[in-house]
Amino acid sequence: MIDDLPPLREVVARHGLMASKALGQNFLFDLNLTARIARAAGPLEGATVIEIGPGPGGLTRALLAEGAGRVIAVERDSRCIPALREIEARYPGRLVIVEGDALALDPAELARLHGLGGPARICANLPYNIATELLARWIEAEPWPSVFDRYVLMFQREVAERIVATPAQRADYGRLAVLCGWRTRSRILFDLSPSAFTPPPKVTSSVVELIPNASPLPCDPKLLSQVTRAAFGQRRKMLRQSLKSLPKPGLDVPALLARAGIEETRRAEEIDIGGFVALAQALAVLS
Ligand code: SAM
Repeated sequence: MIDDLPPLREVVARHGLMASKALGQNFLFDLNLTARIARAAGPLEGATVIEIGPGPGGLTRALLAEGAGRVIAVERDSRCIPALREIEARYPGRLVIVEGDALALDPAELARLHGLGGPARICANLPYNIATELLARWIEAEPWPSVFDRYVLMFQREVAERIVATPAQRADYGRLAVLCGWRTRSRILFDLSPSAFTPPPKVTSSVVELIPNASPLPCDPKLLSQVTRAAFGQRRKMLRQSLKSLPKPGLDVPALLARAGIEETRRAEEIDIGGFVALAQALAVLS
């Protein structure tokens, strides 16, 4: 028992919250598990936590019970709002419910608008169908470092491995690993088996922690995103070929590689984060 609110199964039944596949709804009902995730984002005293996709509020309740000063919860499914209002009433002034699409909202702006001004974090069991898109946007956001001092996020295990990968893990190393490795230090904290969720997803999930680097190597995130997209889009090809797909008409690809100090015959998965930053810096000069 982390609070005196009704069990989540009862909340879901009372509000008729049949899980929607289209909204990536796999709910956590075990409040011990949600407490474990909330603690991974702690200490929470005085902190503002943005939660994307609170659903019926299992993690929301854990974050509040673990002492979060304020939780700003963004939920797209209007059916969940009455259940969240019950949590809001239990924790007056500490839960801000935002009904909307997380892809259309800037979490840093939400923290500025509704936050307490102290440390701010993002903690969420993300809808799997938009999880990587959300993470990439948050990592590419300007200015950096953002207002967030930590991200504690649940992904499918396979996505978590792609976030923390280094060039040594060739199959997993790609655009997501470069973006995340450039601006954060990331690690997998623990796994959750499919049976932890209702309905159970097909695969294991992992909680990932990302801590922002205060001063990552300087480069334009948009250009880094473009070079990684082009390079890993044809990952088996040599860079002199794959980088021709950059959206820069007339770009001299051999000159770009020379400027970045990278051999033309290299492939994307052989290039470390410093190499991709050098490519993005060279692209800024040549395009
Ligand atoms: N946090 C809850 C839990 O752990 O039980 C629910 C997690 S469930 C994996 C993902 C949640 O994200 C759902 O409640 C879903 O309605 C919500 N969601 C899906 N797409 C969304 C979007 N674009 N913006 C905000 N929330 C979204």
